[in-house]
Amino acid sequence: MQTTESKTLELAIDLIRRQSVTPDDAGCQALMMSRLGPLGFDGENLRFRDTDNLWARKGSDGPVLAFAGHTDVVPTGPEKNWAHPPFEPVIKDGFLLGRGAADMKGSLAAFVTACERFVEAHPNHRGSIALLITSDEEGPAQDGTVKVVETLEARNEKIDWCLIGEPSSTTEVGDVIKNGRRGSLHGYLTIRGVQGHVAYPHLAENPVHTAAPALDALAQEFWDNGNDFFPPTTFQITKIESGTGSNIIPGECLVHFNFRYCTENTAESLEERVVAILDRHGLKYDLDWHLSGRPFLTDRGALVSASQNAIRTVTGRETELSTSGGTSDGRFIAPTGAQVVELGPINATIHKVDECVKAEDLDTLSSIYEQILVELLA
Ligand SMILES: [Zn+2]
Repeated sequence: MQTTESKTLELAIDLIRRQSVTPDDAGCQALMMSRLGPLGFDGENLRFRDTDNLWARKGSDGPVLAFAGHTDVVPTGPEKNWAHPPFEPVIKDGFLLGRGAADMKGSLAAFVTACERFVEAHPNHRGSIALLITSDEEGPAQDGTVKVVETLEARNEKIDWCLIGEPSSTTEVGDVIKNGRRGSLHGYLTIRGVQGHVAYPHLAENPVHTAAPALDALAQEFWDNGNDFFPPTTFQITKIESGTGSNIIPGECLVHFNFRYCTENTAESLEERVVAILDRHGLKYDLDWHLSGRPFLTDRGALVSASQNAIRTVTGRETELSTSGGTSDGRFIAPTGAQVVELGPINATIHKVDECVKAEDLDTLSSIYEQILVELLA
């Protein structure tokens, strides 16, 4: 592609060409390492089952600033719905189009080029620079960042500051950074009744009828007010399933629900409150829980300040701190005590058909990452 002189753009294009649908890395990490190696990074391939992870580090001293991200992308859906083939990136009207352009191969390219310029200008920088890259973020996330963090913890290797390249921006690069995420708690409820003939309801017990008022109470419940950093906790029913056939009162009603919760509650407090509501309604039930992520928060400190200063220096923008959106791999890194901030390109098209990013935004992002390195390690 001769139309570009931007190294960041060129690398992003090379990465998008690799069809790395979760959990396939498709050679992206090796490509990144081929650029980081000459800078003095030691790369370690940490493979767990079918997932490739890269831990690359330059330096052996603290503090450690780690850039974190993922090479995997979500599936494209039917390619005929795309204006251009999703793995044949093109630049059109100033936008780079292709699967992963925004989430998050553009950020990966910006990590690498930021490191290149920083190391050239500051060969004897303090501390260490690291990259923690997985190919299992968009899928089950069981063999990716969580396993790398366990490996690092086991050998007492600490990350002080973690900058995740997830697309945090809303209308302009750097307008929003995420300094935390809500928790996510799933509930799987089975309400038991007694199956019977609809004409003989006195011989049966309809679990849909007994469930309804309890579910209404859960939907109406006030969980908390949120706080300075988080919106209020929300409860949503995601699935209701019951029915055995016409003229039959079903014997069971399945209900799935999810909490997105803030630090005013814990998974345990929410579980207790749900059980109390169900018991108050006299239900017979089984209830299983799956905690997919506890909430985490990085308060104002060195990493938040460095990010805000870097964005101001490069773009002149003031940055809003936010904890909205789904969970991210930050949930695995934050519990180690690391400060964690997410800063990446505009998220308007992520996971969509015709995913794209403004081409010049990748250079801006690379400059911001470089400036964060200057703020923390120069
Ligand atoms: Zn992502």
